[in-house]
Amino acid sequence: MFLFSRQFDLAGARHIHPRYRRCSLHGIATPPPLPTPTTKSCFASLLRSYSYPKHLKQIHALILTTGLSIKNSLLTQILQILSLSGEMCYARNLFDEMHKPRVFLWNTLMRGYFKSKLCTEALEIYHQMHRLGVRPDEFTFPFVLKSCTALLDNWVGMEVHAMVVKHGLDFNNIVSTELVVMYVKFGDADYADDVFESMGNGRDLVSWNALIAAYSQYGRADKAIAHFQRMESAGVEPDTITLACVLSSCSYLGCLELGKKLYFRIKEGFLPSNIFVENALLDLFAKCGSMDVASELFDEMPIRNVVSWSTVIGGYAINGESQRALSLFFQMCDEGVRPNDVTMLNVLSACSHAGLVKQGKELFSSIAKPTIEHCAAMVDLLGRSGHLEEAYGFIQSMSMDLDAGVWGALLNSCIIQHNTELGELAADELLKLAPETPSYQVLLSNMYAALGRWNEVEKIREWMRLSDFRKVIGYSSVELDGEVLVFHEGSHAQSEKLHQLLCELTSTVRGIGYRPVIISALHDLEEEEKEAALMAHSERLAIAFSLMYSNNIECPLRIMKNLRICNDCHEFCKYVSKAMKREIIMRDKSRFHHFKDGQCSCTNFW
Ligand code: ZN
Ligand code: ZN
Repeated sequence: MFLFSRQFDLAGARHIHPRYRRCSLHGIATPPPLPTPTTKSCFASLLRSYSYPKHLKQIHALILTTGLSIKNSLLTQILQILSLSGEMCYARNLFDEMHKPRVFLWNTLMRGYFKSKLCTEALEIYHQMHRLGVRPDEFTFPFVLKSCTALLDNWVGMEVHAMVVKHGLDFNNIVSTELVVMYVKFGDADYADDVFESMGNGRDLVSWNALIAAYSQYGRADKAIAHFQRMESAGVEPDTITLACVLSSCSYLGCLELGKKLYFRIKEGFLPSNIFVENALLDLFAKCGSMDVASELFDEMPIRNVVSWSTVIGGYAINGESQRALSLFFQMCDEGVRPNDVTMLNVLSACSHAGLVKQGKELFSSIAKPTIEHCAAMVDLLGRSGHLEEAYGFIQSMSMDLDAGVWGALLNSCIIQHNTELGELAADELLKLAPETPSYQVLLSNMYAALGRWNEVEKIREWMRLSDFRKVIGYSSVELDGEVLVFHEGSHAQSEKLHQLLCELTSTVRGIGYRPVIISALHDLEEEEKEAALMAHSERLAIAFSLMYSNNIECPLRIMKNLRICNDCHEFCKYVSKAMKREIIMRDKSRFHHFKDGQCSCTNFW
């Protein structure tokens, strides 16, 4: 502290050491004492006590004025702390003044750039090292690879991989783990698996977790689950990080059985747990339509945070139990848990699914700073419940920049309410804002198809063809004995057997009153062809398959569908649930449908 309080004469001191000149650059008015061992140790103790960038800069200026050697450990320490606090401009200047910095300093700077999300700069440092012939070490590559991963820079990533091999670091656990994560993000699962295999016995919990987390995060939930199963067979005990990742993959794919097994093992104390694992379990049960299990777990949780509440509220909303979602929301507020943006989005969606316009409006007005997602949910609520003009008025009154989500909600409502005029207006806006978004084109084409305006449908198809656009392929999935089976429209290994069963099923349900809703077929086909096209919808194949293999009649048939279920399949499911006395739980793109005794939980509102 005495360094800051003592009075010095800077002007008089300048002639003693040329570095004193830098003093004024840093705005320091107090010149230092001459360098002595005491001063060095004083600086060291100052650095230990002060870690704010502002103080560090002052200490740096004082060090300069003492003329202490630039190579000394004090500057290294300052560079390290400043880099980690994100003061990259200052850190870079400091670095540039250093004479032949050691590889440790290069690594420090690179790490600082990466932590400050300046990945291009981090890679630049790496290239500069390369040009100057600085030999990288095992601490250099993890940050280079992380930067390549963040920038999705495939080419540089492969180059760096070659350098890793050249420097003999391909057997280093930390470097290899980063390589695996990078290849997973690039979508090169084969490369990722190769690198992971090459790690052999060096693989530990950290590397398994990195692999599973990467697959789970970058859209390959199937691989995340498969690797988790391999990890267990290899005798590596999972921790809470592994479990949270695997459960979120199960939730993504709808693997309820695996999720339940893990839940029982956690309950029995064979697997570790914490609030993140419990929230992941809640999410899984909610997304698989098992609200009874979710609610049991929720009641048992020792600590519940806003994520736990929001997940259960959202779960009730998509499963058609809007009133329960709302009463839980009020209970949450009574217990003093502050709702966040996600909670509010979930309650608005609960209102929307049940057509609770008045309550939805009240809840919306209680949001202090509504986000664009809240506004889109409000448009959805008003539009779906038939208040299309009001929804349009609401959009016009919005003061924020409108996005595709808002117009998409209006277009969707227009399709449900068969309002082409407003639908076209919404579609025009959508095309302006997000011309490349295929899902909106599909919505629009569905709207015209439902009205039988095939010229317009053809125009959109032509546009799609010219812009190299491919319609999102519909698929449904079911879980059988822990394995997930995917059904695409019209094809499956056992399709002949399935089609035969589907034909029998169709005639059975026709016998109790089912009539095809032909409007759903999106093609300009003859009536019979339309019916045949409907028969091939992936959810029907999945239903036939489940009926064939799942013999326990107490057990509901669970089907996940990536798109919105069409009107006809919705009718079909109702009749199948009645004829076969089986409950069908279907999750489509927007919500759950629980079909039982010829009725659906969505009360035809979806
Ligand atoms: Zn369908
Ligand atoms: Zn339904």
